[in-house]
Amino acid sequence: MSHDREKLPSSITIVDDPIANLQLLSTILVKHGYQVRCFSFEQISLVKVEELKDLILLASSDDPERSYAFYQKLRNDPLTRQIPVILIDPSEQTLAQIQAIAVGSADYITKPFHHVEILTRVENQLKILHLQNQLQDCRIQLQQEIFDHDTTKRALKRSQKDFREIEECTNALLNAIPDKIFRHHIDGSFLDIKGKSADLILPREALIESNLRNLPMPEALKADLLERIRTAVETGETQTFEHELAKPDGIFIYESRFVKSGADEAVCIVRDITERQRMEAALQQANLELERLANLDGLTGIANRRRFDEYLNREWLRLAREQFPLSLILCDVDCFKQYNDTYGHLEGDKCLQQVAKVFAAVVKRPADLAARYGGEEFALLLPNTDLSGAIVLAEQARLAIKCLCIRHDTSSVGAYITLSLGVASTIPIVGSQPQVLISAADAALYKAKYEGRDRMCADKTKG
Ligand code: GH3
Ligand code: MG
Ligand code: MG
Repeated sequence: MSHDREKLPSSITIVDDPIANLQLLSTILVKHGYQVRCFSFEQISLVKVEELKDLILLASSDDPERSYAFYQKLRNDPLTRQIPVILIDPSEQTLAQIQAIAVGSADYITKPFHHVEILTRVENQLKILHLQNQLQDCRIQLQQEIFDHDTTKRALKRSQKDFREIEECTNALLNAIPDKIFRHHIDGSFLDIKGKSADLILPREALIESNLRNLPMPEALKADLLERIRTAVETGETQTFEHELAKPDGIFIYESRFVKSGADEAVCIVRDITERQRMEAALQQANLELERLANLDGLTGIANRRRFDEYLNREWLRLAREQFPLSLILCDVDCFKQYNDTYGHLEGDKCLQQVAKVFAAVVKRPADLAARYGGEEFALLLPNTDLSGAIVLAEQARLAIKCLCIRHDTSSVGAYITLSLGVASTIPIVGSQPQVLISAADAALYKAKYEGRDRMCADKTKG
């Protein structure tokens, strides 16, 4: 058996009647490595079609019609129609009939047999069968590949559709938000533009063809933006940059955020924050105004008690650290109840406003604070001022009020509005409370009242 033969099919079925006729043929084939099974026409009709494989040698029986009938049966059955058949010594009529059936491979050998010819023909038929089998395998494989290709194509189409839908959805979303989104190469060229970009510098079509470097913008701003793109790409860290941009319809403020989106590209999200900044500035202004109002006395316009308390605590701590004196003058309008009773509450208010104005003018240093302490009482807080300095100021205030010459006919002191003042001063001790200073000034004020009003008394225990 040749080397190639080893790969070929080698099961041969011999059909003969009687079987002994082809005994020699069978022996030759067995000797050449074939598996041979012999059947009579009677027997073959009982053999399952699956067992009839590779090659059938069909002998011409005494009854040619019987051979032909068997041949026809083989060709009619889809399971056997491709099995090659070699007819052994067929009649002319059988050959003609068989050639009319254009199905399957068939050959014939006439007597006398020469065993080389038989072996050649058998091998040829088996080769044809082998090639047919290979062809069939190729066909199946091709069909599988076509099927796989179709499946892949369908999957690709589906994902393309999904992708288109996602893209449409993303574009719709990006168009719905006011941000402008650009994809930049590190060199500044525009790779893609999303969102409402038409209102930025140039129309979208012009932008996509362009480079950031060529836009009609100040050179310094372009350099700043390019630097952010480069840093975002090189470090992978998001860069945020706020900048102004002058456009034909005004000056706008933008927040540009750069995010690395590839080996040498970054996505830039540009947000118009002009309105936000304007509102933030207005809010800050409103807060400042609120803060200012919260610290002012509604009637007199000078600092209120809240502001006084807060400032006293702050300065107390500071001067305790720095070990410098803090002085306090508490002032009380004399016989103010009678003033109200005589001139009415509205006139009383006006009087308090005039008095407050004087106090505001008397304190000169930026750190000094004139505040309405409550009712017709006022306080002057004097950081870095010792008792002697505070006494001078208290006396100035007393005289300045007197100089206002606000008539007070029912005062027990004189014809005009007068003040009583209590002065105290101390170098705060760390850990002590400012209440000690207030008490000392209050005690001095009480003394001034007690001694006849329209005077200043100082707490001499300290300072
Ligand atoms: P003394 O000389 O002992 O200080 O007598 P006084 O009358 O000034 O003191 P008293 O505490 O008896 O009365 C204070 C008065 O100040 C009573 C109150 O109605 C008046 N007063 C307090 N706050 C205001 C205010 O905002 N406006 C007006 N018009 N009067 C006020
Ligand atoms: Mg009082
Ligand atoms: Mg009073």
